[in-house]
Amino acid sequence: MSAIKIPFNRPPYLGTELGHISTAIHSHKICGDGAFTKKCSDWLEASTGCGKALLTTSGTSALEMAAILADIKEGDEVIMPSFTFVSTANAFVIRGSRIVFIDIRPDTMNIDERQIEAAITEHTKAIVPVHYAGVSCEMDTIMNLAETYRLQVIEDAAQAITSRYKGRPLGTLGNFGCLSFHETKNVSMGEGGAIFLRDSKNFERAEIIREKGTDRSKFFRGEIDKYTWADIGSSYLPSELNAAYLLGQLESIDLIIKDRMKSWNIYMQELAPLAQKGRIEVPHIPDECEHNAHIFYIKVKDIHERTALISSLKEKGISAVFHYIPLHSSPAGCRYGRFCGDDIYTTKESERLVRLPLYYNMGDAVYEVSDAVRNFFS
Ligand SMILES: *Cc1c(COP(=O)(O)O)cnc(C)c1O
Repeated sequence: MSAIKIPFNRPPYLGTELGHISTAIHSHKICGDGAFTKKCSDWLEASTGCGKALLTTSGTSALEMAAILADIKEGDEVIMPSFTFVSTANAFVIRGSRIVFIDIRPDTMNIDERQIEAAITEHTKAIVPVHYAGVSCEMDTIMNLAETYRLQVIEDAAQAITSRYKGRPLGTLGNFGCLSFHETKNVSMGEGGAIFLRDSKNFERAEIIREKGTDRSKFFRGEIDKYTWADIGSSYLPSELNAAYLLGQLESIDLIIKDRMKSWNIYMQELAPLAQKGRIEVPHIPDECEHNAHIFYIKVKDIHERTALISSLKEKGISAVFHYIPLHSSPAGCRYGRFCGDDIYTTKESERLVRLPLYYNMGDAVYEVSDAVRNFFS
């Protein structure tokens, strides 16, 4: 087996991160909620217009905070696609709720908004749209349903930094938006994330939940003279070292997205002939969506062709991957959830999907991968 020449992902590094980390170290403030955390939150709020943005230790912890803030309890039902990462479901399962999975649309791999209404019961508390590959779900339909049935909407916008729906930043449309800055995402802090809060009624409680259930944030701002245990909560506050890394990335985000977009468009152009011949399918971006080049995937005939393609690329030193194993077919998914309606696309489409390498500054590697894919089909 040949060594990996082109990795699937390489975390972005712009060069400014180290200086920021050094500043944090020399300021003798490396735990959470210092100057760098504040600068990142300010940046996120200014660039999206969300009511409040709080950095978290991961996208997972942002989802967990959202589940607490949405008051998800034992016996509640939460609607989401089965084609997603485990954290989307886990955050709600640990609050005691049941997960109701519904099918995806084959064109965007997002939740099929037309099937949500049939899944709503008297126990339904929330809808969790996942913006796969940074391409928005059909949010007008979802927000209308949420209003009609008085449900909360928690956007899993883990992959969606800078993406928009009808001009509006993802993560700001629902009651809560959860972002991830894991090293595999477009901008990173190693491990980390953020929660966007739309409504001011949640601001204070969110700060408490994030600070181990204490009102320490208010104490540090001098608004109260001692702090106390005020609510449930956990340690959802990232360190200043991670925030310092993230700030370097946010300052250069235009550069990162522009470069990823360039590679994404090259894939699109290089693989168009295969798509025209019907050998593969390439991503579809609906008119109302602005995406962020988070993922470039292709869909092949079936799981057998996919396995053959991945090993053919591997022989050439190229690492391509698939995901997700649909949650409803996993052991925990069976225990904590049920599929509502028919699984027409979730299993079939997920088995056909391959993600090609895509990372900041991949240069001509994008042509090499495209050639290798074309060779496989010739
Ligand atoms: C990455 C990701 C998460 C989890 O984010 P972490 O920061 O790794 O905890 C959740 N949902 C989706 C859709 C993701 O892609």
